Amino acid sequence: MIPGSFDYHSPKTIDEAIKLLDDLGEDAKVLAGGHSLIPMMKWRLAEPAHLVDISRLSDLSYIKENENYLCIGAMTTETALETNQLISEKYTILKDTSEVIADPLVRNLATLGGNIAHGDPANDHPATMLALNAIVVVCGPNESKREINIDDFFLGPLWTALQENEILTEIKIPKPQNDTGGCYLKLERKVGDYAIAAVAVNLEFDNGQCKSAGVALTNVGPTPVRAKSAQNSLIGTDVTDEAIFQACELAAEASQPIGDHRGSEDYKRGVIKTLTGRAIRKAKSRAMGGN
Ligand code: FAD
Repeated sequence: MIPGSFDYHSPKTIDEAIKLLDDLGEDAKVLAGGHSLIPMMKWRLAEPAHLVDISRLSDLSYIKENENYLCIGAMTTETALETNQLISEKYTILKDTSEVIADPLVRNLATLGGNIAHGDPANDHPATMLALNAIVVVCGPNESKREINIDDFFLGPLWTALQENEILTEIKIPKPQNDTGGCYLKLERKVGDYAIAAVAVNLEFDNGQCKSAGVALTNVGPTPVRAKSAQNSLIGTDVTDEAIFQACELAAEASQPIGDHRGSEDYKRGVIKTLTGRAIRKAKSRAMGGN
């Protein structure tokens, strides 16, 4: 349970951090909240020779809206998301998600950027970001900057589109239009555990009809899973009981769970079906002004 030895770097600016990553190459790893990386190092599943600590880059910690997007800095902690007024009022699905991650001690340090950059299909934010159609902003050497659609970001277990000399700096979430509501529901064995399975739903309504839908699943595949058929089945409907029933079936079909200590394949499909129905109902109620 003791990590291998490493050199510790504490850059003062994003540019300095990127230069370090570029110079040190594949031997270096970004350290944010450390709540995924340090356990992996203790188990010797990761043995970076250099850690580039970005936790002192305070300009990467913010939650703000501009004309079109909610912008969240990568170093924003789960606690900051959980307690932010704008998030509570307008982006309830993000509050739902942060609240069910680990325990308060972890949430005080764990960052949104780290949760996404880690690329763990068991992490909770990736499915929520799929449901919200988020954009991942990444900075690299020579002041390069690229925006990656969330659908192109998760490539496999612990594998993302990030290059080793890049830093995830911001998550952009399109501002809700019309009547929009979202919900994240997770079943866990005990408080603080990773999901047996979880479902993120975001619905936009226009004159009572579902105009767009995002449905995504946690810990039932090698990456977070976008349940495309389930989403499509809701669009154009009034999200009636019949439409919800069909979306639940389609979400369960889209999941690719494996049996393990958290439950059998069939059990997890059943969990997805049940949670999808509950999350759709809650998202619809929130879109219509309920809580
Ligand atoms: P770190 O651990 O510092 O980094 C994780 C990885 O991302 C590393 O590879 C690092 O190099 C990379 N990275 C981090 N930030 C950046 C960046 N800005 N740019 C580029 N690369 C970056 N998570 C859940 O979602 N749900 C849970 O229920 C849950 N339960 C947990 C329970 C425990 C007891 C613990 C210890 C952790 C749990 N986690 C859970 C994980 C936790 O939320 C992690 O902290 C989070 O996944 C990673 O965020 P971090 O800031 O700690 O990242």
